[in-house]
Amino acid sequence: MRRFSVRPNRELGQNFLVDPNILSVIGGVAQPGAGDVVLEIGGGAGALSEYLAPRVGHLHVIEVDMHLREALTDATGAFGNVTLHWGDAMKLDLNELHPGPGKVIANLPYGVATAVLRRTIDELATVDRWVVMVQREVGERLAAAPGDRAYGASSVLVQLACEVKVQRAIARTVFYPVPGVDSVLVELRRRNEPRTPQADAALRALVHGAFAHRRKALTGSLALADSEAPPRERVQRALVALGHPPDARAQRLSPEDFVALAAALGGA
Ligand code: SAM
Repeated sequence: MRRFSVRPNRELGQNFLVDPNILSVIGGVAQPGAGDVVLEIGGGAGALSEYLAPRVGHLHVIEVDMHLREALTDATGAFGNVTLHWGDAMKLDLNELHPGPGKVIANLPYGVATAVLRRTIDELATVDRWVVMVQREVGERLAAAPGDRAYGASSVLVQLACEVKVQRAIARTVFYPVPGVDSVLVELRRRNEPRTPQADAALRALVHGAFAHRRKALTGSLALADSEAPPRERVQRALVALGHPPDARAQRLSPEDFVALAAALGGA
């Protein structure tokens, strides 16, 4: 970083990995291999990229900050299997990545971690495994169970698509600069439960509507969030059939309950 006068930019979540031990921890979980096409989001100064490149078949690295161009190019330049993509991971067309990635391995920028993760789950059908470092609260939300305080729409939507496991806590001291928050290493594996686009859209709308007003009963939240929501009595009957009270809140329902509720309401 000194060589390339890199000054970490907090707004872009630039907490760079500076402890080589953590790279083998990530590698131990992600098991990068010669047959893998890996996508790393947020290349930074290249610490993780440089570790992954010699271990995988192809590595795509997305980085938004052009100030890091020299450092990241220097870290990866010796490898013929690395493609650097300069731009915002929320805007780049991920389906333009060739060869198509099968794994995402990254130390995600905090500000956009959940959004980037959800985007890769929704748009990159080729990816079936993610090993990512995220802020502890984000990891807990992704893995939360019904009734947990952190359980919400993103827990349900991510768990409908993937099995989620918080693999381990990460010490703040592995980063420079040391962040003001804790981090965890999270692993996601895609479930193979294809739904039609219509059923998927109905399920998402139901989950978002159900959690839109968390303090209200699910029926009330749905009615407030969506003027075309099914009549309250119908939703209540469906909840009771699933073994929940008619005034249950969304936080009580498991991801599978949401699938069953959507089906009962005719959306899936
Ligand atoms: N992989 C490096 C490491 O582990 O040392 C850097 C990780 S750092 C936590 C996150 C990186 O994501 C930063 O380099 C930051 O510039 C980049 N970043 C932030 N927002 C981004 C976005 N929307 N698209 C692509 N990269 C982004």
